[in-house]
Amino acid sequence: MKYLMALCGFVSYALIAHADEPRTWIVGATVLSPERKDAGRKVNVLIEGDHIAALSENLPADARQNAAIDDAAGGVLIPGLIDSHVHVQLVPGMTYPMTLEHQEIVRAYRTQLPRSYLMYGYTTLVNLVGPPDKLDDFQMLRGFISAPFHPDLYRCGAVPVVNGYPSQDIPLPVRSLVFPYFVVDPKNQDGVPLGTIAEEHTPAAVIARIKQDGNICVKTFFERGFGRNKDLPVPSPEVFADIVKSAHAAGLPVLLHASSLEAQRFGVEGHTDIFAHGMWNWGEFNTSTTLPEPVRGVLDQVVAQHIGYQSTSQVIGGNRLLFEPDFFDRPEVARVVPKAMLDWFRSAAGRWYQEAQARGASDERMRGIWDAFLHREAETVAYLAQKDAFFLFGTDTPQGPVAGNLPGLNGYLEMERLATYKMSLRQIFEAATINNARAFGLADRIGTIEVGKRANLVLLNRSPLDSVEAYGAIRTVWIGGKRLDPASLAAAE
Ligand SMILES: [Zn+2]
Repeated sequence: MKYLMALCGFVSYALIAHADEPRTWIVGATVLSPERKDAGRKVNVLIEGDHIAALSENLPADARQNAAIDDAAGGVLIPGLIDSHVHVQLVPGMTYPMTLEHQEIVRAYRTQLPRSYLMYGYTTLVNLVGPPDKLDDFQMLRGFISAPFHPDLYRCGAVPVVNGYPSQDIPLPVRSLVFPYFVVDPKNQDGVPLGTIAEEHTPAAVIARIKQDGNICVKTFFERGFGRNKDLPVPSPEVFADIVKSAHAAGLPVLLHASSLEAQRFGVEGHTDIFAHGMWNWGEFNTSTTLPEPVRGVLDQVVAQHIGYQSTSQVIGGNRLLFEPDFFDRPEVARVVPKAMLDWFRSAAGRWYQEAQARGASDERMRGIWDAFLHREAETVAYLAQKDAFFLFGTDTPQGPVAGNLPGLNGYLEMERLATYKMSLRQIFEAATINNARAFGLADRIGTIEVGKRANLVLLNRSPLDSVEAYGAIRTVWIGGKRLDPASLAAAE
């Protein structure tokens, strides 16, 4: 528990609460807070320690005597951004064995990782499907949590069915160590590891452990597989109903990994709280150029049930980037990963993933394949945007070993993509702030600029309600009241 508190930054919070708290007035910015639905207002913001202590139109006469003054004139102050779908322990471009082979690169990457998120304004991350064992976690997250500043990190407990996605590739002897919260379907005992105590793997039992271990959500999966895994087991409606019931009893939201028509239909029928992906696979309707009627029916349910929707378009977009020959030469890429890693991405060895995918096909052909997925994703998002669905901002960074999903930058690219897919700038802003905070039970701490909230703030040069590019022009970031200059967070050349 102590470890988890340190992870979230609350130990330091408790220690300094009684000391003399540093005070700073942020002066002259337009404050844009999503609960107000306005275009922002000129108001000064007082930070005390790690929280917001006051909002005031007029600066108190003695402000300069007892607080530092931060001149934010001309800027737009927004709450720190929340990415509710990341995998902090994974290394872009590398499988787990590769990370053991390239420990120097990995160490440099893990040191840079929290800086890259902060540089792009991400002050809160929700880690979905991380290693739950605390020791293992500490190893994989060492660079992250030992950084002088890092985004607040929360985690979800992952609940696969026995041998189901995403546990299938983990070697059998360690599978239940990596995924200790697997569930056993009482009607299907296939492949249940020897020695499993069935009562410890009911939905109620695993979710009680998930809660006890400090997770803030439950993630489960409806995935029959892709690539070489085609017939993976999926939960039955009864098992899924039990997961939802137990999670709600524990006060935890349920996320369902579901990216196909079949999977999202399963999710709306079982009343999931959140979909962890957009719908880029329409099954038998994949060749349709417009939104097929059955897809529309499922999306109407997403809206009617107020299901949180993480589009994660960069799952596809990041794959496509690997087939853009100049991607690793872009200056913004060099700012988010260390040079040694970038050199490796460009090397023959580092190109293993895209070469395995392409098997000799041209870059152009590969981009075309991913564009077909993106087209379906775009249609889905545009339909939900027009119906004002409950969007949650999540990037899935990195999804597997994809070097096209780089920390911080991937969030910016996701936002650009969502704007292209006709989400309004207000929908994007709310998805990355107040909606994420509400959906994950964090709204009493983050998501808006209000007195008492944690001082996670981002100062932009312009309003994100005027253009999505505003998220790429960050002047200052505050994490728990600590002021950071984005330029100082870039990876060394
Ligand atoms: Zn994911």
